[in-house]
Amino acid sequence: MQNSEIKTTCSYCGVGCGIIVTNDSKNGVEVKGDVNHPVNRGMLCSKGMNLHYVVNDTSDRILYPEMRWSKSHPKERVSWDDALERAAAVFSSIIKKHGPDSVGFYVSGQCLTEEYYLINKLVKGFLKTNNVDTNSRLCMSSAVVGYKKTFGEDIVPIAYDDIELADTFLITGANPAWCHPILFRRLEQHKEKNPKTKIIVIDPRRTDSAALADLHLQIIPGTDIILYHAIGKRLIEKGYIDNDFIKNHTENFNLYKDLVLSSSFEKASKLCGVSVNDIKLAADMIGKAKGFISLWAMGLNQSAIGVDKNTALLNLSLVTGQVGKPGSGPFSLTGQPNAMGGREVGGMANLLAVHKELNNPMHRKEVADFWGVNEISEKPGLTATEMFDALESGKMKAIWIICTNPLVSLPDSRRVEKALQNAKFVVVQDISHNADTSKFADLLLPAAGWLEKEGTMTNSERRISYLPKGVNAPGEALSDVEILIRFAQKMNFNGFNFNTTEEVYKEYCMMTKDTKMDISFLNYNRLKNEGTFQWPVPDYGHPGTPRLFTDKKFYTPSQKAIFNIPTAIENTSEQPNSQYPFILTTGRIRDQWHTMTKTGKVSRLMTHIPSPMLEINPIDAFKSGINAGDIVVVTSKNGTVRVKAKITDSIREGVVFLPMHWGKQLENDLNRTNNLTNTLVDPTSKEPDFKFTTVSIEKY
Ligand code: SF4
Repeated sequence: MQNSEIKTTCSYCGVGCGIIVTNDSKNGVEVKGDVNHPVNRGMLCSKGMNLHYVVNDTSDRILYPEMRWSKSHPKERVSWDDALERAAAVFSSIIKKHGPDSVGFYVSGQCLTEEYYLINKLVKGFLKTNNVDTNSRLCMSSAVVGYKKTFGEDIVPIAYDDIELADTFLITGANPAWCHPILFRRLEQHKEKNPKTKIIVIDPRRTDSAALADLHLQIIPGTDIILYHAIGKRLIEKGYIDNDFIKNHTENFNLYKDLVLSSSFEKASKLCGVSVNDIKLAADMIGKAKGFISLWAMGLNQSAIGVDKNTALLNLSLVTGQVGKPGSGPFSLTGQPNAMGGREVGGMANLLAVHKELNNPMHRKEVADFWGVNEISEKPGLTATEMFDALESGKMKAIWIICTNPLVSLPDSRRVEKALQNAKFVVVQDISHNADTSKFADLLLPAAGWLEKEGTMTNSERRISYLPKGVNAPGEALSDVEILIRFAQKMNFNGFNFNTTEEVYKEYCMMTKDTKMDISFLNYNRLKNEGTFQWPVPDYGHPGTPRLFTDKKFYTPSQKAIFNIPTAIENTSEQPNSQYPFILTTGRIRDQWHTMTKTGKVSRLMTHIPSPMLEINPIDAFKSGINAGDIVVVTSKNGTVRVKAKITDSIREGVVFLPMHWGKQLENDLNRTNNLTNTLVDPTSKEPDFKFTTVSIEKY
């Protein structure tokens, strides 16, 4: 590393902690938390504080491009020129023969904004298909639709600094103590200093987050909307509502009121598995709050009714008028470090850059004009799971996968395996041979990782950080920006004459001009010299915007926030039956990240939970004849998993839990949780229903 000290941002979760990197004594690097960073104030969680191991250990890295001439040939080392010429030739020939929609790109919320921007420009502008989607589809797409339906745009209205200004928190469908640890640490510190702060947790598991709660509602999975409506009913009946805000700044309140008042607490209690008393207690805490913040993540988003769950929760902020003022507002927690940046550049099959809409002809023309292309296709692209369906059926022939490991992370892994086997051409652009998906690559491209390239990211609170390059990538690995530019040039596309990543960022910043996320006055110099900024940054010298909607003007046509009425109130997932009587829910553990290609190689992170275990309630275990540590076979209609049982009363009866991280390569086929998960998706957001799969359990 040339500079003795580099300031950067953690590459794991959406909290976006500041990190200082220095040289160690053995030519490697060390990391520590940045005490001056506004997010983490020097703190790092177990994953962040071990990031240097990932940089220093290059033993698993892909060092040069590898290619095979046919499925029956072994992969062999090739030059970058040969690799990208072959990619260009195969993509051109498939598009010529089968049309642009026969190819697609599947990318990642870990891509930097510049990479994400280039991918979208390349695919939507020049390859002429909207088949570009991201693993953020598995993470935030239900929240995106929820925000758009309620506020008129995909906007997180508040900042982490609002945590210290609030007195009541509802954490629902999230375990930030493990998945967003530094944000949770700030919440813990706030409660330590202000013991009257109220925390309500809604979760079928008594997690470490629930351990801090004043009230834990151990809900039956899938019944969230019923519970939020019951809370809404109590708020209205007790007069804990903001009539002035509702009258002047919202639409549809009467429809909402009629709906929630028509329900009964007793019915809600029975359906949700939560006592009437606790429902009323939760509502009273929210109703009496001076500053109320809701925090949520995958428990809401990863659901067949994920969008309705989101809007039903957002309604609680509207009915109490807890939006646009200090210490209040809804706050979705992004799982990945740059899921927000990806949304900004239109990194989904149904979106365009700078929050423009694919289904709006004017927006398509504006984007096409900006990129200097004739048009953008009006046909929505295939979403994450749809792309793999299309590969399996043969409708899509080629896929380019960047910085993600779908063989482990997508639902129903065996279907993904079949899809990749069936594809005519698979490009995998990644850093590690440990990504199971790389085994299916016809072309394997070595990418630079964290600290080996520069670019920007946006965290969960709209905060943009600049990440400098500190070390050289191993072997012949290149930055994703350089790989994409070289490919575009091999395709003879105009519009990719960038010499630096900074030039890509400049172009993207110009595109945001006069939008709600205007950062046209932001640049690398400001980010390097002045630190991080929360968008919008619409002027020279503008300090960024921590809080939105302070004027109570929302981004809907009427400028009013909208109470949405759900299309489904009860869960539409396949319900337990005599063959599959348990509900399987999946999620993260504290020290692992996604499919473990990085955290799995850090031995000290493997000590917390070294192998996957099925959490099962003691009553269910007793009825099934299972003792602690027994090997159990978990079966769904899609597949099987074989793991040890962990008997714990922290999970409610009828529900079992498996961590999402383990793949085939690190352990064995039968540790891969997504062998089991169902293929349902939310009808609007197309986010998979990871949190509700019916399974059977038996002792092995
Ligand atoms: Fe990194 Fe998230 Fe941990 Fe912060 S909380 S150190 S961003 S993993």
